[in-house]
Amino acid sequence: MFEHVSSLSHILTNSSAVSDVDPIVSKLNYIEKLWASWYIYMDNDILATGLLFFLVHEFMYFGRCLPWWIIDQLPVFNRYKIQPTKIPSNKEQWECLKSVLKSHLLVEALPIWLFHPLCSELKISIEVPFPDKWVMTAQIAFFFFMEDTWHYWFHRLFHQGWFYKNIHKVHHKYAAPFGLAAEYAHPAEVMALGVGTVGFPVLYAYVAKNFTNLNLPDLHLFTITIWITMRLMQAVDSHSGYDFPWSLNKFLPFWAGAEHHDAHHHFFIGNYASSFRWYDYVLGTESGPLGKRGREQKMISRAEGVAKKKV
Ligand SMILES: [Zn+2]
Ligand SMILES: [Zn+2]
Repeated sequence: MFEHVSSLSHILTNSSAVSDVDPIVSKLNYIEKLWASWYIYMDNDILATGLLFFLVHEFMYFGRCLPWWIIDQLPVFNRYKIQPTKIPSNKEQWECLKSVLKSHLLVEALPIWLFHPLCSELKISIEVPFPDKWVMTAQIAFFFFMEDTWHYWFHRLFHQGWFYKNIHKVHHKYAAPFGLAAEYAHPAEVMALGVGTVGFPVLYAYVAKNFTNLNLPDLHLFTITIWITMRLMQAVDSHSGYDFPWSLNKFLPFWAGAEHHDAHHHFFIGNYASSFRWYDYVLGTESGPLGKRGREQKMISRAEGVAKKKV
C-alpha cells in the first residue's frame, strides 16, 4: 500500500534500510551510503533534494561564518585583519544575520524546492555510486571559471549608476566586510549572482543531454552539492576581512581571497571578480593604490616597448 517513491529504493533488497550485506551496497563508500540512506529515508526525491539543498546552504553558510565571528572576538588575530581598526560590533553582525536569514527564507527557498524537478528533466543523476572523482573535479573547475566570469561582468554592471543606486548599494553597506555580509544584498542581486552559481550546472546538464555527440560526462547532484558548498566557502571567506600567511592566495597567486574583495569594499571600485584575480588584472580594474601602481607599471613597460621598437 505504501510504495517507495525514491528512485534510489531499487538498491534495497529485503530490508528498508541500506545494509552492508547487500552486494550493491557493500561496494559503496561511506558518503555514498549516507547519500543513498538520505534519499531512501526521505522516500520522496523532491523533498529529499529540496531539504538537502536548504540544509547544506544554511549549515555551510552559517557554519562557515561562526569561526570568523569567534576570530573577531579574539584580539590575538587583530594583526591579520585587513582593516584592523574596523572590527564589526556584535550588534552589527546580529542585524546582518537576521537580514540574511530572512532573505534565505524568502528569496532562495522557492528556487531550492523547484530544483529537483529541474534535475529530473535534465537527467542530473542522484544514483550511487558517484561518478569518477576526476570527472567531478573537472566539472567543478569549469563551474568556478564560469561563475567567476559571470560574477565579474554582473558585478561591474552593478557598479554603474542606476544599478548601484537601486540594487548594489545594499551590499556595500559594510566598507569593512565580515563573513556574514557575503549574502547581505538586494534580492535582485541575490538572484542575478545566484544564476552564476546554479545556472552553469543547469546549462552543462542541458548541453550534455541534448548534444550527445559532444560526449560530455553526465552531471551528478552530489557534484553540484560539492560545488555549491565550495562556492559558499569562497564567498564567506572573501568577506572575512582577514588575510593570513596561510590563506589560499599565498599558495595560489591567482586566487582572489579576502585581500582582493576587502579592497573592493574599502575603495568601492575595482576587484569585481569573485574567485580569481586574472579578469581584474587583464582588464585593468584592480582596486586601490596597489591596482593603480600595477596599471602604471604596465603602461610604463608598454611605452618602453614602443620606444624600443622605434629605435
Ligand atoms: Zn561591489
Ligand atoms: Zn562583497
